[in-house]
Amino acid sequence: GFKCGIVGLPNVGKSTLFNALTNTAAAAAANYPFCTIEPNVGQVPVPDPRLAKLAAIAGSKETLPTQLGFVDIAGLVRGASKGEGLGNQFLANIREVDAIIHVLRCFEDEDITHVEGKVDPIADKETIETELMLADMESLEKRKDNLVRKIRGQDKDAKAMMAVVEKALAVLQDGKPARTTEVNDEDEAKILHELQLLTTKPVLYVCNVNEDDAAEGNELTRRVEEMAAAEGAVTVNICAALEEEIAQLDDEEEQKAFLADLGLGETGLGRVIRAGYDLLNLITYFTVGPKEARAWTVTRNTKAPQAAGVIHTDFEHGFIRAETIAYDDYIACNGESGAKEAGKMRLEGKEYIVQDGDVMHFRFAT
Ligand code: GDP
Repeated sequence: GFKCGIVGLPNVGKSTLFNALTNTAAAAAANYPFCTIEPNVGQVPVPDPRLAKLAAIAGSKETLPTQLGFVDIAGLVRGASKGEGLGNQFLANIREVDAIIHVLRCFEDEDITHVEGKVDPIADKETIETELMLADMESLEKRKDNLVRKIRGQDKDAKAMMAVVEKALAVLQDGKPARTTEVNDEDEAKILHELQLLTTKPVLYVCNVNEDDAAEGNELTRRVEEMAAAEGAVTVNICAALEEEIAQLDDEEEQKAFLADLGLGETGLGRVIRAGYDLLNLITYFTVGPKEARAWTVTRNTKAPQAAGVIHTDFEHGFIRAETIAYDDYIACNGESGAKEAGKMRLEGKEYIVQDGDVMHFRFAT
């Protein structure tokens, strides 16, 4: 499955956010740097109001949302790339995630130590990014040494890779993350991806604010928004401490009342999860029947057989066709038989690119 890594300086609220997401106390939050040593991984249901609507129409007994993985990555401090704090271990953990959720402290609280002495989310962001860029430079330099040897042996692929390595290095040496490297074509884009750099991963900024600022944000979140806009990145404001409290209320009605009291329409968590989903370029298709209505995740531009393979490899290998109804048609026609009658059920073949919201039924041979 796809995973988002939660990073940030100590005491910005990473564990609190992770706890809220996974609704467990597994990652014990404490006012102490390096308190969470092992990365904590949690599977989090992706909220999607369409699922309940489909289930209501089909009379499905159960709804099964799709999930997104979150990893709480602790131990990042200034000097991490040189092994400070939990430096190297943490860097290895980031390498394994598909996207980065960068938590920035945008709240004042005298009781909670800031490792850098003062609350400054822009400076914090730069501190973290610098460590990631230093780690990337080190890994590229190592790779370069290897490539030089291969190129002497007339290895063509090595030559192509070297070109991208040098481009990315130049970008990093210029103080910019490797994701801003300009590639000439898809081959180069692929190579850049294969280099598995930390600063080519897509990033979402989460501004952690006090309860009072949860609805409107504050001066600090506005500075982060400006910074993010310049990078073409997205930000989400949340109060992690509050989200943790809300997540502990297990009754959905109770949660809604609590949110309404605070002038909030939905939880910040929902927004974080969905922003992470978008960041990874993921879409959802559905399977709907009397037993269950279920959401499945695929990357945008996935073809029908590969999408079927997410359910079972047999579905992919024996794929014949996919009976497909767009979500809006399914709703407008009040379900499958109505959609069939209205000619809204399409028979799609191997080349069909699955669209977000498709309700699918796969035909396959074993
Ligand atoms: P981490 O080191 O980044 O994982 O930070 P933690 O999640 O452990 O949080 C550090 C401290 O800040 C804890 O005492 C939290 O209760 C507190 N904290 C987290 N979020 C908020 C918030 O939104 N407002 C305030 N005032 N405190 C928070």
